[in-house]
Amino acid sequence: MEKFTGKGVYGGIADGEIAVFKKQEIQVRRQGISDTEGEKQRIEIAKSLSKEQLRVIYEKALKEVGETNAAVFEIHIMMLDDEDFNESIMSIIDTQKVNAEYAVSVTGENFAEMFASMDDAYMKERADDIRDISRRILRNLADGEQMSKVSDDEKVIICASDLAPSETVLLDKEKVLAFVTAHGSLNSHTAILARNMNIPAIVGVGEELLLKVKNGDRGIVDGFSGELFLNPDKKTEERLSVKKREDEEKKKLLNKLRGKENITIDGKKINIYANIGGVDNIGAVLVNDAGGIGLFRSEFLYLESNDYPTEEQQFKAYRKVLESMAGKKVIIRTLDIGADKQVSYFGLSKEENPAMGFRAIRICLTRPEVFRTQLRALYRASYYGNLGIMFPMITSTDELSQILEICGEVRAELKKEKIPMSKKVELGIMIETPAAAIISDKLAPMCDFFSVGTNDLTQYTLACDRQNPLVEQFCDTHHEGILRLIEFSAKNIHKSGGWIGICGELAADTSLTETFLRMGVDELSVSPTYVLKVREAVRKTDLSK
Ligand code: PEP
Ligand code: MG
Repeated sequence: MEKFTGKGVYGGIADGEIAVFKKQEIQVRRQGISDTEGEKQRIEIAKSLSKEQLRVIYEKALKEVGETNAAVFEIHIMMLDDEDFNESIMSIIDTQKVNAEYAVSVTGENFAEMFASMDDAYMKERADDIRDISRRILRNLADGEQMSKVSDDEKVIICASDLAPSETVLLDKEKVLAFVTAHGSLNSHTAILARNMNIPAIVGVGEELLLKVKNGDRGIVDGFSGELFLNPDKKTEERLSVKKREDEEKKKLLNKLRGKENITIDGKKINIYANIGGVDNIGAVLVNDAGGIGLFRSEFLYLESNDYPTEEQQFKAYRKVLESMAGKKVIIRTLDIGADKQVSYFGLSKEENPAMGFRAIRICLTRPEVFRTQLRALYRASYYGNLGIMFPMITSTDELSQILEICGEVRAELKKEKIPMSKKVELGIMIETPAAAIISDKLAPMCDFFSVGTNDLTQYTLACDRQNPLVEQFCDTHHEGILRLIEFSAKNIHKSGGWIGICGELAADTSLTETFLRMGVDELSVSPTYVLKVREAVRKTDLSK
């Protein structure tokens, strides 16, 4: 037996035969030609074939993994028309009088290297996209696209050096048990696609994988721990088959709770909502039977974009979420960038201590044009569902007053433009700084609800940087200081007739469910896959005892 360890992208255990996925090797030779026009025409034909194929891939991705994830193939289609890319190919053919294949291959490599050398993480990742489209053009210059067949009948574990997003989407999901790649990062498009396809997956196990695995080998993938066991021994096989059964049992048991109320034994009800990062997480929200969305991290719209998302783009995304939730509550948090969430086009300067720095509402209040664009999109979308808006990183009543004033102005502006809006949009703030919790008696009468961001509240209360593994041991998430701040905030918002939720990771910690219920927390918002687990904990709680 051999063990390979990488990063688990999606949990689950898969046991089966391995199929090694090899990219079709394309040998490009430099050949002198005289008919340059003929070569250029071959390029045009190969490009239009590539576009047709990418449109088919886009449609498949749209159905299987949602619009945001499918967008990468739209980018590929656009790249095929990129002026600089095409000019470079044509000029190599003209000036060097060489074959189309050579011109595409050299251009592809030059552009990929240029992207790879950029500082911006997003642009760096575009290098793989360039290589992907160059390979596609080359395949079409040869004999058209042939996707490697995964398997004829059996489901298999795919092992590959890396998988391009287009290859991942084209894998026949019915035939894939899991996939393991030698390279790749947790946040690559391919990893995101795997999560959305619900396939156990591991990335980054290292080059050695491909030297050791052969078609037909037996493997067990543990997507939870990020381990692949090649030709496993009896003991490992037994251990993982127990783990697999337990995982399946847990999922089955939890599934029985779908459609059931979030109610304690003694009759207290609570809302269990879900946290999302984008429109394509809605499927998971509905499948897991969440009662609403307690946190839509809107910054992902900005993080996924190359430039400021326009009012129209944001409006469409928010409207889609609201319509899909069909009248259930949707709380969208305004832009929360800075610290670990950096967006290059904002041009923010480097900071010594970014967690304590220029982030979230601080950026919005100093760049009102960005804030107003988002608020306009939000209020316009409010007409299509049950919207609540919340603001991150609040520390003072002065900030909240400014926010409320801007919200009033935006509403008045839209009213003047005769744009329909919902009459009531609840406004809330995140309690994620000790200051906000301590002055919660003053903040409460100014808003409709509080939502506790325990991830940040913990780091600021305990002075433990949430990004720093060295201080993890000092970070007691159950610290009495944090729990007291939540309880105090709950009392204050209830006094003024509002409600309180928790949307940080602690909301899913079922060892605290009873504590939160006793504090009078009205809503817990968790990752979609934890909704049923928290429902189970609520239904086992008896507050009369
Ligand atoms: C939090 O801080 O708990 C929270 C929900 O916000 P984020 O994790 O996005 O900072
Ligand atoms: Mg936070």
